Amino acid sequence: MLTCSCGRSYSLAQFKRLKLVGHQNDPPVVLEMRNCVCGSTRTLYVDDQGSYSDTHPEEFELLGDLDPWVDSDGPRREAKTDQEEWALEGVMTLYMLDQDGSHDDGAGPSRWDRDRVRYFAAWAARGFSDKQWKQLIVILEKYHRQIGKCPK
Ligand SMILES: [Zn+2]
Repeated sequence: MLTCSCGRSYSLAQFKRLKLVGHQNDPPVVLEMRNCVCGSTRTLYVDDQGSYSDTHPEEFELLGDLDPWVDSDGPRREAKTDQEEWALEGVMTLYMLDQDGSHDDGAGPSRWDRDRVRYFAAWAARGFSDKQWKQLIVILEKYHRQIGKCPK
C-alpha cells in the first residue's frame, strides 16, 4: 500500500494503473515513478525478481554495517508481541527455505531480501532492538503466502 501526501492510497495493482513518469536505475533496485491523480509523483522500488517495495534498500543499511556486539539503536530484546513472535518464526522458516535452495521454484526470500533474512536468522537468538523488530516485520509481511499473515 502506497500513500500519497494528498491522502490517497494505492494498492500495487492500482499503482500500476497510474500514469508512468519514468524508471531510474539505482542498483540493486529500479525506481518506478508514477503520478498520483493529484499530480505528485510517487515512487516504488522494484527488485531483480520483480518484487515491489515502498522501502528503498538503503533504509536497511543498518543491517550491513551493524556490529553485532554493539547495540547502536537500543538494547536487544526478545520478541514480546504477537507480531514479533510471528516474525521470529517467519524469518526462520524463510531461512530454511533459502538453505534448501528452493528459491528456484519461487519459495524462500527474494534475492533482494536474502541477505537480510540470513542476518536476522543468524542473530535471532540474541534478540533485536525495537527498530530492528519493526524492520523485520516490514520485510516479512510480503511473504505472508509462505509464512502466514502477520497477526493484528
Ligand atoms: Zn496524491
